[in-house]
Amino acid sequence: MNFARILFPTDFSKTAQHALGYARDLAERYDAVVHLLHVVRDPMSQGWAGDAVGVMVPDLLTTWRNDAERRLRELPLGGTRTACAVRVGHPFVEIIRYATDNEIDLIVMGTHGLGPVEQMLLGSVAERVVRKASCPVLTVRRLDHTP
Ligand code: ATP
Ligand code: MN
Repeated sequence: MNFARILFPTDFSKTAQHALGYARDLAERYDAVVHLLHVVRDPMSQGWAGDAVGVMVPDLLTTWRNDAERRLRELPLGGTRTACAVRVGHPFVEIIRYATDNEIDLIVMGTHGLGPVEQMLLGSVAERVVRKASCPVLTVRRLDHTP
């Protein structure tokens, strides 16, 4: 077993931030590279994106991608070797695709994210990644989410 490439997908939520500590520590132990990934939800695949919005989407996407890239670079990773990636699409699809394409050995992510519902055992992105990933997934819960 070797965790050479660890994927940390983040929505920049507090829970993901908490999971980052585990990714960082594991990377240190296994001398791994941490791949930081943010997926910008494709606005065209969402209900609110009508024709008028469609015209603005390329600009919006560029802004969101740039913001995400900057935020990824600002994550506190100490001396850990990192790679940054921003993708556009459905978060879980892009996370799984990234893991496959980059031969990721371990995914470290939060149990929850920015979504409003915390009663669920897992958020919908976490649940689908756990179900579909072909590598192990470490899901990290924030303790103050305990009921
Ligand atoms: P839901 O989205 O179903 O309302 P939630 O937001 O509470 O629920 P998830 O979205 O499943 O929970 O988030 C779980 C973890 O998945 C996050 O902590 C983060 O690690 C990862 N994640 C969620 N959204 C993204 C995203 N857009 N890009 C990258 N990683 C993400
Ligand atoms: Mn979410």
